[in-house]
Amino acid sequence: MNSVRKTKSRYFSGCFEYEFSKEWLEEKYIRQELSVNEIGEIVGCSGGTVWRNLKKYNISRRKRTDGKSPITRFWKGIKSPREPHECWEWIKTKNKRGYGLLSVNRKYVMAHRFSWELFNHEIPEGLYILHRCDNPSCVNPSHLFLGTKLDNSLDALHKGRIPRGEDKWCSKLSENEVIEIIKRHNNNESRKDIAKDYDVCPWTIRDIVTGRTWKHIQRGK
Ligand SMILES: [Zn+2]
Repeated sequence: MNSVRKTKSRYFSGCFEYEFSKEWLEEKYIRQELSVNEIGEIVGCSGGTVWRNLKKYNISRRKRTDGKSPITRFWKGIKSPREPHECWEWIKTKNKRGYGLLSVNRKYVMAHRFSWELFNHEIPEGLYILHRCDNPSCVNPSHLFLGTKLDNSLDALHKGRIPRGEDKWCSKLSENEVIEIIKRHNNNESRKDIAKDYDVCPWTIRDIVTGRTWKHIQRGK
């Protein structure tokens, strides 16, 4: 790791000295608002060592936030202790699907997306943040990765979390249309005719009427 250099102490045998790069230290201390002890934990040194490095670069003590900045609230939303390789469980507000929510400027943002941005950079438009650990409430940046809409769908498919009906990104039909299709099929119209009207293939109609897709819609005559 270039950001931290560990060398044997010249003065105390068996001890180590840690030298941090300024950029890395600023990133952790200023931008990510980690405390000196937390930074020390990442590296495996004491908070005092981190503090000495801060002084060396003339990085002044971070202004005390009032505890209301989104980053402070982000850290408070995670179950402690935070182990580097374990899931970081979100303990504050979650949505229906179990994703953590964090209020930023009076708007809810997804906590895992916030986490990814905090440790990386802004998420490019249209891209998704996916979980390696398949735990929606996890916000550990090392469990998150950037993906496209397709990656997201494949990921969901893989993990058996396919959204149903209209929520499906690939869904061409609306819920009302599906209800209409079922009605027409119950009136003995051919699948082929119905398919033509909705510009889908007959198999799509078959899947709908047999309940393979759109399971949540009531069937029966
Ligand atoms: Zn995780």
